[in-house]
Amino acid sequence: MQFRDLRAQYQALKAEIDAGMADVLTSGQFILGRQVTELEARLAQDVNRAYCVTCANGTDALVLTLMLWGIGPGDAVFVPDFTYFATAGCASTVGAEVIPVDIDLSTFNLCPDALEAAIERVKQQGQYRPAAVIPVDLFGLPAAHDRIAAIAGKHGMRVLEDAAQGYGGQIGNRHACSFGDAAATSFFPAKPLGCYGDGGAIFVDSAQEDALLRSLRANGRGVEDKYDNQRIGMNSRLDTLQAAVLLPKLKALRQYELDAINQAARKYTQALEGLVQTPKIPEGYTSSWAQYSVLLESRSQRDGVQKTLKEQGIPTMVYYPRGVHQQTAYASRHWPDAYFPNTIEATNRILSLPMHPYLTDADIETVTSALQKALQN
Ligand SMILES: *Cc1c(COP(=O)(O)O)cnc(C)c1O
Repeated sequence: MQFRDLRAQYQALKAEIDAGMADVLTSGQFILGRQVTELEARLAQDVNRAYCVTCANGTDALVLTLMLWGIGPGDAVFVPDFTYFATAGCASTVGAEVIPVDIDLSTFNLCPDALEAAIERVKQQGQYRPAAVIPVDLFGLPAAHDRIAAIAGKHGMRVLEDAAQGYGGQIGNRHACSFGDAAATSFFPAKPLGCYGDGGAIFVDSAQEDALLRSLRANGRGVEDKYDNQRIGMNSRLDTLQAAVLLPKLKALRQYELDAINQAARKYTQALEGLVQTPKIPEGYTSSWAQYSVLLESRSQRDGVQKTLKEQGIPTMVYYPRGVHQQTAYASRHWPDAYFPNTIEATNRILSLPMHPYLTDADIETVTSALQKALQN
């Protein structure tokens, strides 16, 4: 069994993907070819945001947005403690100070109350200016964007939605990648919308930001004279081949993959409710299920279950085994564990099960009955 079955998806979309890639090879337009332009227009329309600029990966999408806003030394950037490292690393890359914030254990997303407390602490301490917050749509579920936007607004902070795992999620009829002052996503193969290598995109509201990002992703090149570099940027573009892969994948995501993965989630929850703590989707929210993650009772139970499932050929993952505040790269900060009780709880008890739109009823039955048996031991 595959944790995320990319081969099944390729078999389903093979004809279109192969034809799309062949078109690129024939055209010879490997960098910023017409498929990149078409994809950017489709993505912006798909999430209902004015502008989309693609780039080389999700990490760069975050860094480029912080560069766009001029965030750097002296600025505090607030991030959830429980996330993939890039959410925090991007702030350090531009020289800003990362401030990890605890999560809400029922959604695994940034806790707005903990955010307010962290902002107050930073203000009182007076060393850094609260400049931005990066809420993550973890495991496909949008963060509490309305509350976070209100808090950020009160403190004059920018909001960067990290939708690397969130593409396809919604709050009401508002789409992931349309929240915050800007949004970043990733097309890493295992994400809800993935390509066949690295890829990423940034979503913004104005033509001016769009133009600046296009300059920043091409080493700060000028618009009139491309050899007059007007600012410091980086080389970060989406390959035309990857855009050709993403075009049919975006169509499939909207046509049936999101329905299929939500159906798989419902079946998991039906079979597992009462046995383990199943994921909770708040009223009005829709997840794109980058992961289906359950909470076991303890670290030893979780580790035992993972081992038993592995012996039966069922792959599971621990996303994530440690919080940002526990990363060696930030050891000098000495952030106390007491600030992050929910992150620590999650790192000890979480387990992500095989999840993708091509999961069969038989796969779900295999996983849930094996999990049930493992818990009886
Ligand atoms: C994957 C991921 C990123 C980084 O994306 P890459 O394309 O791998 O650079 C950033 N944030 C989160 C939450 C992610 O899951």
